Amino acid sequence: MSVKAKKHLGQHFLKDENIAKNIADSLTENGYDTVLEIGPGMGVLTKYLLDRKFTTHVIEIDRESVEYLEVHYLNLASRIITGDFLKIDISKEFNDKPFAVIGNFPYNISSQIVFKAIANRHQIPELCGMFQKEVAKRITEKPGSKAYGIISVLTQAFYNTEYLFTVPPTVFNPPPKVDSGVIRLTRKENHKLPVDEQLFFKVVKTAFNQRRKTMRNSLKSLNLSDKLREDVIFAERPEQLSIEQFINLTQKIANDAI
Ligand code: SAH
Repeated sequence: MSVKAKKHLGQHFLKDENIAKNIADSLTENGYDTVLEIGPGMGVLTKYLLDRKFTTHVIEIDRESVEYLEVHYLNLASRIITGDFLKIDISKEFNDKPFAVIGNFPYNISSQIVFKAIANRHQIPELCGMFQKEVAKRITEKPGSKAYGIISVLTQAFYNTEYLFTVPPTVFNPPPKVDSGVIRLTRKENHKLPVDEQLFFKVVKTAFNQRRKTMRNSLKSLNLSDKLREDVIFAERPEQLSIEQFINLTQKIANDAI
């Protein structure tokens, strides 16, 4: 008996064993001995994780999938969390231990998974997984590209990002409408910003809200001094700015307010 795919849970089960193994192999094992798989479904990825030397935990929201896992992966049973990854308290669940995150993620919440990982980055040295290709590209894109946006800057401020490979719809049951992409995020050695983090997030989000405009126009709502707004950076558009430039700008804005 297998699990019947439920659309509202973003269930697209991977059929291709080689691809499952390649995704599992994308974990480097650097800096952790525990891995959390989000959304194991029927365990196609999980079985390759269980072969590795780290300890694998899984979190799955779908009871039918959990029952399937309990029957088919007896040695995993004590490490299955039934629940919603977006709702769990990470430091409680993992006792402040570092762990890597992996998954063939449910696409409807994949950006939120990345933002939750960023918020808990002191505990998450690595995240590998499959996203809708367009989202995978956005996360890993560099300045100057159309796909470069809020999630690119906020992720790359804390993680080095790599686009690993593309996966076609045909290897899933049921097939999604779009291509998928597998990426790896490796936490930067220094993942603490030299500026106020809340302000940095606000500057990035406000700038990209109107990505076609210059920074001078898009940051109007921040009520900056005329003197600061003469800075050359305000003639640029957000998609041209590097992470370092966003950080520098945040510093200038912080000083401007004083
Ligand atoms: N890893 C499996 C299934 C991928 S489909 C495979 O590759 O075949 C995505 C999985 O995420 C489904 O099993 C779905 O039930 C689960 N899921 C969806 N939302 C979730 C959430 N909020 N927390 C945990 N798991 C979730």
